[in-house]
Amino acid sequence: MADTTHFYQLFEPEHYNVYLDINRETKKITGKTTIAGEAKAEKISIHQKYMNIESILADGQKVAFTTDDSADAIRIDLGKTGNVTFTIDYTAPLTDSMMGIYPSYYEVNGEKKQLIGTQFETTFARQAFPSIDEPEAKATFDLAIKFDEKPGETIIANMPEVRQEAGVHYFDTTVKMSTYLVAFAFGDMQSKLTTTKSGVKVGVFGTKAHDAKELDFALDIAKRSIEFYEDFYQTPYPLPHSWQLALPDFSAGAMENWGLVTYREAYLLLDPDNTALDTKQLVATVIAHELAHQWFGDLVTMKWWDDLWLNESFANMMEYVAIDAIEPDWHVWEMFQTSDVPAALQRDATDGVQSVHVNVENPAEIDSLFDSAIVYAKGARMLVMVRALLGDDALRAGLKKYFELHQYGNATGADLWSALGTASDLDVGAIMNSWLEQPGYPVVSVSVVDGQLTLSQQQFFVGEGQDTGRQWQIPLNGNYDETPTIMTEKTIKLGNYEDLRQSNGKPFRLNVGNNSHFIVKYDETLLKDIFAYSEMLDAISQLQLLQDFRLLAESGKISYASVVPILTRFANHPSSVVNAALYQVAGNLKKFVTPGSDEETQLQALFNKLSTRQVTRLGWTPKAGESNDDQLTRPYVLNAALYAKNEEAVASAHKLFTANKASLATLPADIRVFVLRNEVKNFGNDQLFDQLVADYRQTPDASYKADIRAALTSTTDDNQIAKIVDNYENADLIKPQDLRAWYRGVLANDKGQQAAWDWIRNDWQWLEDTVGGDMEFATFITVTTAVFHTPERLAEFKAFFEPKLNTPGLTREIKMDIKTIESRVALVEKEKAAVNEAVKKIVSTCNK
Ligand SMILES: [Zn+2]
Repeated sequence: MADTTHFYQLFEPEHYNVYLDINRETKKITGKTTIAGEAKAEKISIHQKYMNIESILADGQKVAFTTDDSADAIRIDLGKTGNVTFTIDYTAPLTDSMMGIYPSYYEVNGEKKQLIGTQFETTFARQAFPSIDEPEAKATFDLAIKFDEKPGETIIANMPEVRQEAGVHYFDTTVKMSTYLVAFAFGDMQSKLTTTKSGVKVGVFGTKAHDAKELDFALDIAKRSIEFYEDFYQTPYPLPHSWQLALPDFSAGAMENWGLVTYREAYLLLDPDNTALDTKQLVATVIAHELAHQWFGDLVTMKWWDDLWLNESFANMMEYVAIDAIEPDWHVWEMFQTSDVPAALQRDATDGVQSVHVNVENPAEIDSLFDSAIVYAKGARMLVMVRALLGDDALRAGLKKYFELHQYGNATGADLWSALGTASDLDVGAIMNSWLEQPGYPVVSVSVVDGQLTLSQQQFFVGEGQDTGRQWQIPLNGNYDETPTIMTEKTIKLGNYEDLRQSNGKPFRLNVGNNSHFIVKYDETLLKDIFAYSEMLDAISQLQLLQDFRLLAESGKISYASVVPILTRFANHPSSVVNAALYQVAGNLKKFVTPGSDEETQLQALFNKLSTRQVTRLGWTPKAGESNDDQLTRPYVLNAALYAKNEEAVASAHKLFTANKASLATLPADIRVFVLRNEVKNFGNDQLFDQLVADYRQTPDASYKADIRAALTSTTDDNQIAKIVDNYENADLIKPQDLRAWYRGVLANDKGQQAAWDWIRNDWQWLEDTVGGDMEFATFITVTTAVFHTPERLAEFKAFFEPKLNTPGLTREIKMDIKTIESRVALVEKEKAAVNEAVKKIVSTCNK
């Protein structure tokens, strides 16, 4: 039986002295931790994992203890309660797991080097020092660190270093904080520093494998983000410094350790002279996300992991609020509409999905909470709804209050709703609980029934779903004044449709702005009316039409074939968000065709029709002074033209490759991936393969690396595919942090699918040993699911994963994924003929 008593209930720590001696050569950590606190019971527990505990003193006296590895615990019978100070001596291994204290590996000028960093969220601080490793157990920390130091190396931590004695680095006492936010790092680093208006020191740190200019973009965004938050939250940044550090090995995207945020290199460092706009936007939002946490998450922390959403949903919304404020020309909310929104709508439509708020206890379950589509994307959408309801003034007033009340402490969702509620006259909690506690979301059907404009809500499923009569309080955002702000009933009538249409003078629409988490199904009359006016709709509304059609088609509520003729209507739109939605729908048609078949040729002809005019308009290379929309649209249409095997496009890409053969990295980053992929697919040979592998090894530029990976995994050569798969377990070439992308690349390649699928099944144990227990582990299954759409693969998937259903942290993922593939297979079987017929028809009519 799992023990569900939190250790904090038995012992409340107040202050830690953490001394660590870390040896990179012997991969050993020797530690001494003292914890002063108050025992609430005679028998208490302290977290540890993988440690060899040598001795424990309580107030200077030796005490007996046992270790219980199944509960990550040290059990101590104190025989008394009250204040006590423990001194614990121990050793622990330094492992390559990207959790706890761990090394990152990299090369500078052929020399192999290591940078030591930390990752303590969710439950990995207990691998570094004995602690009450729960978010509620806030305490102050004095860190003292010694390591096998070489000349020129630096060490950084949450707080500034105050002194160095006998090779030991002592850091200033922290403010009260949770264990999962403690961090430090050391090695041979370079940095760039600046200071905010309010005097906070801001720095960006990375290895010396990078060009110094790669630190500039992050430094600017970090500084301006902190200045923005200090103003928006009306609460000062609580620490003397804010360091951003890029680690060469990093499991997640980034981690908001207080005062020392750690990042994947790809999400912090970039070449300011040759990086695609969307990559810059992504990096900026990641930085703004982590810095939003410095208050929301770090200063005020969720009480327990069930309220993880409180941290993540909020930071996920604020990253857009912040970047929209400091870079208004980017229109970064459009990125929200093309990334978070479709991700949330897709995953949340599968029966069995988690709700945003989930009860959890054991560590594997806690890690499985980090479902980016739900806890991040759907949660952010929930908060976007709250923001729209409250307005920014009330939101800011509410947040200021929330920080005042809970700073250096913990809070729950109810605390946030209550702070926001007092700053407005809305019962925010009542509205939000229907979104927070229930999985899924509604489709609102709009129809004219007996002359009455009628709205009705029902849970929306893609694939089989059990309708349990769930209802939501839906912010409708209708464009007729007669629409209520919130729909609380199952069905409502707005009045006589003809009269309403006349008095409003425009087609009826719901969810204007696409900021509420529901989709709309209009009846034929209303839809015709909208289409007649669709030219006048803004880009987001057009994206929304395409998005809702796609989802309704995937659910079988409308026929997939009926969506095909709509596509050409949007093909020449100048907006990148419309193109994003268009090519998402078009890309989904690929599952209906067999590779190499006549149907595929027809589909390629459709892609050609959709993209030709835009390719001509935009050309292959970015033009000086062109709009952001043009920059962001070009990749969609070039990708389409290459899928279509458009001869001119293939030749243009080949020409660009030939002209830049000696310095491929300098190809414009926006289109580089297409040039490389085109070359590998259509003009590939072993020499090119080896050249790209060598470049991959050598370049420090993460976005160039990603382009090479995408190109290499698209090869049609069996030997090259075998070579790639053979290197999956070679960390010198493919870092564990990048393995999933390499696996997905080959799996999504028709010619490589079998090899990748065989590999993951044969070497599952190796994978589990290498990246299991990591919060990203389950996503190896998710990416597999995203590719499969045939009955054969479904059967193989079930045969392999069903026996693993009881693996902690994987149960929900496997169940949902089986459902997802099942529904996709059924959809393809049912609609294949009609969809392909519709494609053929469109292609032939367009040709006339
Ligand atoms: Zn976060």
